[in-house]
Amino acid sequence: MGDRLMATVRTLTSIPLPPESFEARRNQYYSTMILKEMLGNVPRDALKLLGVTDKDLCIPILTYVFGEAQVGGTAAVVSLARLRQEHYGLSPDRPLLLERLRKESLHELGHTFGLFHCPSRECVMYISNTVVDVDTRGRDFCPGCQTVVASNTVTERRG
Ligand SMILES: [Zn+2]
Ligand SMILES: [Zn+2]
Repeated sequence: MGDRLMATVRTLTSIPLPPESFEARRNQYYSTMILKEMLGNVPRDALKLLGVTDKDLCIPILTYVFGEAQVGGTAAVVSLARLRQEHYGLSPDRPLLLERLRKESLHELGHTFGLFHCPSRECVMYISNTVVDVDTRGRDFCPGCQTVVASNTVTERRG
């Protein structure tokens, strides 16, 4: 994934989810509050910060989200919960899980590089409402989206 963003990837020690992000009635976590917590933990030399959690995520207006990101911002978070085959009553499939995680991570990081959803199904920035969408869309940025990411990477490194 780092190659797609022309960036070095570094893994940090995990931070606890903010207790206020937990919504007991839904047994889910509000991703926006997690992003806010993450923003207080961005290393000085980091261009972007991607959080990965096992917990099921949501926002007030949607029953679930695979992830959330600040468009043009620093932080993005993705959830493994609904990327696992077990969530759909199927047998675990680690290679598929990692492929889905890679796509979702690239998608959410794409938002942090200023990208919105792309009309092309071939593009990783195509919107995903279900895990089938995650599986059927492309695994990389289309040429147009790749250009935006590349230009924003250069800009942010300069500034
Ligand atoms: Zn999106
Ligand atoms: Zn695209």
